[in-house]
Amino acid sequence: MTHDVLVVGSANADLVVSTDRRPGPGETVLGGDTVVSPGGKGANTAVAAARLGANVALLAAIGDDTYGTMLSASLREAGVRTALVRTVTRPTGIAYITVTPDGENSILVSPGANQALDPAAVEGALAGVGVMVASLEVPLPTVERAIEVASAAGVRTVLNLSPPADLGARTLAALDVLLVNEHEAAWLLGAAAEPARLLDLGPRSAVITRGAGGALVVTTSGITELAAPSVEAVDTTGAGDAFAGALAAALAAGAGLEVAARRAVGVAAISVTRPGAQPSYPSAEELPAW
Ligand code: ATP
Repeated sequence: MTHDVLVVGSANADLVVSTDRRPGPGETVLGGDTVVSPGGKGANTAVAAARLGANVALLAAIGDDTYGTMLSASLREAGVRTALVRTVTRPTGIAYITVTPDGENSILVSPGANQALDPAAVEGALAGVGVMVASLEVPLPTVERAIEVASAAGVRTVLNLSPPADLGARTLAALDVLLVNEHEAAWLLGAAAEPARLLDLGPRSAVITRGAGGALVVTTSGITELAAPSVEAVDTTGAGDAFAGALAAALAAGAGLEVAARRAVGVAAISVTRPGAQPSYPSAEELPAW
């Protein structure tokens, strides 16, 4: 089986509860009803790319439990191929999310099965892949191995450096696209650094997402600023993953980096106008210029 896009990353159940205030140490607070939804950066990215028509596989690990079953079903429903989603003897990853009336989130992630995605899982997964996109809620050695194997096989590599992690210089040098938000860029370079300095770290190109400010594409030819459409944002959860999935899908379809990033800006803008992460991702038919 060949795939346009292989996503290497996490799959989590998001358990979201609203509360007037967060409990302090030793305190119990009653909140609203729990809403359970499929999440995790890897699964979100895979679903975003699949909705856009790409042939997508996810390399991930889930547990043999209710949440694992829910995640498999939601991936399949979105058209993501799940042959590389392993079931392991640890609980499925869970993100415990509390939301206060001001819209602020606090998130505690229990990675569980995601931590069992070891580097050996990568072997054989990259044959026939066009673009590999990885993120970092799974062990760093696995991501580094995936980038190394992909790059040796001539597969284009995109790394969404989220959450930030200390990558080896060899891994950075093997990357085609380093994808970061503004916080991650500042974490890598320091607050006031020139975006072009990202290329000094080794990748052939970089994309910086800037929330409502759109994105910057950084290549050796210069920097291109892509404005985001002005939309009414109702929920930005998973916007970065929508961007990553759309970017990978467009690259796999043959677009150049700038065109791919422009499409990703359009897809992510739609995603923020709807509630939730995966449910907010648009299909190709919803994009006029796709
Ligand atoms: P998140 O953690 O919420 O998933 P992120 O911090 O990884 O997101 P952002 O830079 O906040 O990434 O958002 C990713 C992309 O989503 C942006 O580059 C932009 O294209 C789109 N986006 C986010 N917020 C808005 C907004 N208010 N209006 C339009 N587009 C937006």
